[in-house]
Amino acid sequence: MQRRDLLKSAMAAAAVSALTLKQAWAEDVPAISLDGDSITLDKADIRDFADSLGGIVLQSDSAGYDIARQVWNRFWNRRPALIVRCISVDDVVAAVNFARSHSLLTAVRCGGHSMSGKGVCDGGLVIDLSYMNQVDIDVDKKIAYVQGGAQLGDMDRKALPLGLATTAGVVSHTGVGGLTLGGGMGRLQRRFGLAIDNVLGVEIVTADGKVLTANDKENPDLYWGVRGGGGNFGVVTKFIFRLHNMNPMVINFGIRFPMAVAKDALKLYFDFTTGADEDLFILGGVSMREDGTGGVSIGGNYFGPPSDVDRVLKPLRDFGKTTSDRVIPIEYVKLQQVADDGLNAPGKRRYAKGGFLREISDDLITTMVERMEPLASRSFSVGLLPMDGAPSRVGASDTVWAHRDASFNIDSTSTWAMDNTDVDEENISWNRAYWKDVEPFTRGFYVNQLIDENQGQVNSNYGANHARLVKVKNTYDPTNFFRLNANVRPTV
Ligand SMILES: Cc1cc2nc3c(=O)[nH]c(=O)nc-3n(C[C@H](O)[C@H](O)[C@H](O)COP(=O)(O)OP(=O)(O)OC[C@H]3O[C@@H](n4cnc5c(N)ncnc54)[C@H](O)[C@@H]3O)c2cc1C
Repeated sequence: MQRRDLLKSAMAAAAVSALTLKQAWAEDVPAISLDGDSITLDKADIRDFADSLGGIVLQSDSAGYDIARQVWNRFWNRRPALIVRCISVDDVVAAVNFARSHSLLTAVRCGGHSMSGKGVCDGGLVIDLSYMNQVDIDVDKKIAYVQGGAQLGDMDRKALPLGLATTAGVVSHTGVGGLTLGGGMGRLQRRFGLAIDNVLGVEIVTADGKVLTANDKENPDLYWGVRGGGGNFGVVTKFIFRLHNMNPMVINFGIRFPMAVAKDALKLYFDFTTGADEDLFILGGVSMREDGTGGVSIGGNYFGPPSDVDRVLKPLRDFGKTTSDRVIPIEYVKLQQVADDGLNAPGKRRYAKGGFLREISDDLITTMVERMEPLASRSFSVGLLPMDGAPSRVGASDTVWAHRDASFNIDSTSTWAMDNTDVDEENISWNRAYWKDVEPFTRGFYVNQLIDENQGQVNSNYGANHARLVKVKNTYDPTNFFRLNANVRPTV
């Protein structure tokens, strides 16, 4: 038995033994309703609910509550009334039915990486799927069956040793659930499309507590909606992904340029990346650390023959002026974990804005570079990711993702220490001011980068797909039970 499987059985056993201890539920629990009103959850109802589960229910004085309510972005310090750690589809159904019958505000949590902390809520119920992380691979059919609480690493570690992969994000502790439902960008997207372009179907628990299958034959409207419509339609308990043949070894490269040549280096990035070989995945960025040092990075991966890499990267090298230049062969499964630490590790406070570039110009580059300012309490980075290749060959209404014509995704992220709440306001308003100058070069944003956009911006971001999304919402979630997301408001 592998260590991971052992850990999983241990967690399931812990869940069961916690149940056999029979939690006391001595008090009624104050909570918040779907509409934001104060309500009280009767202790007998909570006990019946907890007794019906294979998993466990945590409340504020339970052991493990403070860890279970933590999310990746420690800016959010929310205190749910209850957290239910589900271990089966039946648990998810029971949780949805309990919350609906009490009109209880409900958040759904997979990897907990939502920038706006949507996987946790104050005073409500958190449906925590993180124990539901099983991944099964059908090698012959090249299909992965992935439970709704799995992290990207759970999927990669099962598929890659079999020579198979699908598009997943670049940090292995991100949740498959949130990442996929919002779209899912990653290293393989230029070859194989977004994560949603590889979803063949889902199993989903809808607001009425039903377990539905959605694919191109069964509930096709729901199948369309979950491919980019986020958590609006229910709790996905299983994703079915198309897998592709994947070479185990790939090339990882990273080249850095000093701040003094930042504008020229960014121009080089845009020129090099636009129309590049689809075997290349190229992230770009300009960043500034707390001490004012920083620069431009161009890094990524080459999936073609390793012997070609010098020829492919030559235009970057010819530019010269690099402060570092690194090219290494690496196993793809390891590559998917190289960005797990540092700025991407959980446990810091962050604020980020994002959008899709509609214009690449000298003005944009000047704005990106000249608006950067050092600040002792913050590190700041602007990231770029190309959206051409396979994602751009899918129709704008084939899935919910309406931005198939985008050239690049751009985001600006501020990161500061977990306990340094004093600089929250300063960092957030500085990032907003930076973004105010960059935003005119963008049109629309990635729903998974939603932070504080208002309902009008969310609606128009879905573009021409919004009206169809509302119809799907009216059918499957007419009371807007699932509302902590890039929300589609029902009209019934
Ligand atoms: C370090 C880091 C790296 C990232 N890298 C990438 C990347 O490479 N590519 C990319 O596209 N994005 C990336 N993102 C953004 C990421 O896609 C979003 O943050 C996404 O919401 C994370 O999903 P999660 O399950 O971890 O988050 P959670 O906070 O657990 O969930 C977010 C929301 O998704 C919904 N949800 C999650 N699971 C389910 C489910 N099973 N059923 C129904 N609804 C569900 C819920 O509405 C929930 O509120 C990254 C984010 C971080 C923090």
